[in-house]
Amino acid sequence: MEFLLGRLLEDAITNLRLTERVQSVTRELGIELGPLLHDEPDSALGNGGLGRLAACFLESMSTLKIPAHGYGIRYEYGLFRQSFVDGRQVESPETWLQTVDPWAFERPELKFEIGFGGKVEEIGTAARWTPDEAVIAQAHDTPIVGWRGRWANTLRLWSARPTEIFDLARFNAGDFAAAAEPEALARAITRVLYPDDTTESGKELRLKQEYFFTAASLRDILRRFERTHDDLRKLPTKAAIQLNDTHPAIAGPELVRLLHDERHFSFDEAVEIARGCLAYTNHTLLPEALERWPEDLMRRLLPRHMQLIERLDAAHEAKHPSRQVALRAHGEVQMGPLAFVMAHRVNGVSKLHTRLMKDTVFAELNRLYPDRIVNETNGITPRRWLMSANPRLSSLIGETIGNGWLANLERLAELEPHFDDAGFLDAYAAVKHANKRDLAGWLARAHGVHIDPAAMIDIQIKRIHEYKRQHLNILEAIALWQDIHDAPNAERVPRVKIFAGKAAPGYAFAKQIIRLINDVAAVINADPVTSPWLQVAFLPNYNVSLAERLIPAADLSEQISTAGKEASGTGNMKMALNGALTIGTLDGANVEIRERVGAENFFLFGMTADEVLERRAMPDHAARAIADDPRLARALETLRNGTFSAPDPGRYRGIADNISGPDYFLVASDFSDFWRAQREVDRAFADPARWVRAAAHNTAGSGWFSADRAIRGYMRDVWDAAPVEL
Ligand SMILES: *Cc1c(COP(=O)(O)O)cnc(C)c1O
Repeated sequence: MEFLLGRLLEDAITNLRLTERVQSVTRELGIELGPLLHDEPDSALGNGGLGRLAACFLESMSTLKIPAHGYGIRYEYGLFRQSFVDGRQVESPETWLQTVDPWAFERPELKFEIGFGGKVEEIGTAARWTPDEAVIAQAHDTPIVGWRGRWANTLRLWSARPTEIFDLARFNAGDFAAAAEPEALARAITRVLYPDDTTESGKELRLKQEYFFTAASLRDILRRFERTHDDLRKLPTKAAIQLNDTHPAIAGPELVRLLHDERHFSFDEAVEIARGCLAYTNHTLLPEALERWPEDLMRRLLPRHMQLIERLDAAHEAKHPSRQVALRAHGEVQMGPLAFVMAHRVNGVSKLHTRLMKDTVFAELNRLYPDRIVNETNGITPRRWLMSANPRLSSLIGETIGNGWLANLERLAELEPHFDDAGFLDAYAAVKHANKRDLAGWLARAHGVHIDPAAMIDIQIKRIHEYKRQHLNILEAIALWQDIHDAPNAERVPRVKIFAGKAAPGYAFAKQIIRLINDVAAVINADPVTSPWLQVAFLPNYNVSLAERLIPAADLSEQISTAGKEASGTGNMKMALNGALTIGTLDGANVEIRERVGAENFFLFGMTADEVLERRAMPDHAARAIADDPRLARALETLRNGTFSAPDPGRYRGIADNISGPDYFLVASDFSDFWRAQREVDRAFADPARWVRAAAHNTAGSGWFSADRAIRGYMRDVWDAAPVEL
């Protein structure tokens, strides 16, 4: 349902290895290539990590020559554009389609009618569904070029069109509004990307979107198969369908419907074939993010699918009468369990997340199907996140070990023997410094933020969410500010804390965190005593292009989620690859990053996932943590006394009350250890030789986090697929 592609021109040029030629042509034409590349708007048809993962996977599948299609929705409005007014997030529509989309090929011949609502007539055990509303799904194809341009896959996005452009008869009869209904429905379905990837939205329109693109994609897959094959029983050997979260989980019932009702396989055989094709990636354990749809809504919008879900549920119950697992509960269809029973493989996205999946949400289903859950830790494409984003580091790596790393990122380990060569670590440090100088120049030009490029660049960039704990980070900044005032002449390392990220428009607490960070930045940056040592900046409108700009300059990567809550993270991988050291909890892929880059090159703090559960069970955990740490108490006091909201002293009382009261995400309980680890970071940064070696270990040890490795894992464990021979 999401693809967070970012810009494509540079990706296409580098993957076709045309960079030098394009540079010489643009030079001849008197055009500067850099600004030209930055003219392309970001394609932001995704919210965050989940959509970016899909984009990295598409590029990797093209690189590995796996014939694949990405299927999604061509939203008229992508993720909102974020700006700040008085420190507050303001959303405006992202109108990316108002300029031409030069990458897309419109495919008017590729269209399917997708129905909603209506009646079901039972014919034996099968049925005929007659929808009472319909739209046309029409394909738009964007080529995704693989590394070296040997293969390109297709991102096929569906836009909705009215079935009849215009109902002349109704219009002539004076029923103007009704005549426009088909058009209104079509426009509504592909109008906006839902700007919330962690809470299930109760919107009927969202269910329509999910069915719309899933049904069109399945019909496209069957069309392609039936062009060259006649036995649909072989479909699982030819088509692997990976569900990126439960958003397309209606694919299970829909594929059963297509096979049973429309192609006359028995119900059991249809289920078997569908399950052979389908696999499901779980991306979160947050209970509020597990999709559920009211049965009434499902019955009204997709009456035949609701019948099939009831039948799947009954079949499951008959097979496992203890019935601990229901596809339906409390009048709702549970999309996670539905995706699970309709998939032959279910995967987690990091080792820890996979273990927690087996122990918690899918414990019962895992008992019934012990071989179904597998782990495929996420990855990122090194072509975008190292070669294009960080050309200086790429050149240094190329000069040191050649360019084999681009197709096999684990070869970065070959850098390690060079750490003792005269000059390598100096050159590595010089690259980082030059990247930081570039960032300082851009911050001054674009945002009027003036920083010292020698300062530590400390970065937390990701969606704003309580579990990601940007409020823990800003609380530490407040405590540090107070500490500098206490001892203004102590020896310190200068630090610039950079934040970026969007809050879902309806998520009030996250928006308060944004405002708090902006308010804290205003006070701290204007303080002449502390500003030589500490600056805070919140950059607006986080997107892929901003990530590409910030990550090569990062010294410190903040990955500080409450343990057990971040399924994997991929921002953590991008930064480690580019030589930032992580300060992080044992959460998501942080665990695996630490194993690979070395525990001595990673700043670990905080409770483990198991300790989090114990601590949370303690009734006064926050009060105890605050009583034990005067620094924390003093920092929290500033939120209560209006230090950062002078005209409106009550503004941040809500955040303070949350942290000192329920504190579900254990900000208070992890604060002291976070502070300790941050001071360890300071000491390490004060020793440049030690720091650069640790940074280089992060680059050398990050090769395993290539999306190519992840895709090979899916090919082996999930899809039973192989690259095409060229
Ligand atoms: C990588 C990326 C993310 C994911 O970041 P996490 O830190 O893993 O949450 C989100 N948004 C953008 C634009 C990204 O590039």
